[in-house]
Amino acid sequence: MKIIDLLNSGHTTISCELFPPKKGEDLPQAQEVVKQISALHPAFMSVTYGAGGGTSATTVRIAQEIQKSHVPALAHLTCVSSTRDEISERLAGLKKAGIENILALRGDIPEGKDFPTPNQYHYASELIREIKTQGDFCIGGACYPEGHVECAHKTEDIRHLHEKVEAGCDFLTSQMFFDNDLFYNFMFRALAGGVNVPIIAGIMPVTNAKQITRICSLSGTILPQRFKAIADRFGSDPKAMKQAGIAYATEQIINLISNGVPHIHIYTMNKPDIAAAIFHNLSDVISCDGN
Ligand code: FAD
Repeated sequence: MKIIDLLNSGHTTISCELFPPKKGEDLPQAQEVVKQISALHPAFMSVTYGAGGGTSATTVRIAQEIQKSHVPALAHLTCVSSTRDEISERLAGLKKAGIENILALRGDIPEGKDFPTPNQYHYASELIREIKTQGDFCIGGACYPEGHVECAHKTEDIRHLHEKVEAGCDFLTSQMFFDNDLFYNFMFRALAGGVNVPIIAGIMPVTNAKQITRICSLSGTILPQRFKAIADRFGSDPKAMKQAGIAYATEQIINLISNGVPHIHIYTMNKPDIAAAIFHNLSDVISCDGN
């Protein structure tokens, strides 16, 4: 099933992200994660793509596992470290595996390498155009409510986002954020900039305060005072932090849905218990049509 059809169905959707195993021997564990998360009936499940393409085969494998469990799969694909021939091969592999949905990404520029070489991609919009020529895929792209870390001007970032939509991107999934007001502000700017495709809000339930502080400083994601107080108070107690992180994510999601943002993507970090707790907290919220 194409994800754009789910997003246009008029229903609230909660989807989940997984990452694939780095080593073959970890495959059974990853399959178990798929089994447990698919049992929660998410609208779809996405599977990330290791930087540099190291997980390209396992990304496809996990996407197939997801589809076997009757949940639509969204396979991530990055282009920055690949040649055009390699991307063509990967698209053929996805088609053969029956994957209909691709999250088309540039990927992070590898450190210490000459970039780009003449046969390589510069931006995700070029990958999107390429995918369009190679089959009937539903294509997603990434967006950054607080601006992409490499782009100094938010207006310019929105212009580039618009280019991705013009290239054929059907929907966007956002980087995690912890302050919903920043997301609402972004939605307003995106719409004003002509970005008229569905935007899925990316929510990260934080269960490890130290890890998230490091990730956020790299990606430029702002940690609001309200969140910092929680991390300071509970960060050294894993059980308390987990409970507080689940509550914070739940509250963010309820606030988003009640303010007209119907599509939420949970960065599960391959933790089915955390995904299950959030789905449990939202059981009636998801099915409420608001009338
Ligand atoms: P782009 O859309 O190409 O943008 C990159 C930068 O280039 C931005 O600053 C943009 O403003 C600028 N830009 C775009 N077009 C132009 C132009 N024409 N001229 C000048 N500047 C331009 N990484 C992985 O390795 N694997 C994953 O599975 C993965 N999944 C992700 C999922 C989501 C939802 C998100 C938000 C990110 C994900 N990432 C993943 C990280 C992503 O690869 C990085 O953030 C990367 O640095 C940018 O990728 P992009 O597709 O957003 O790039």
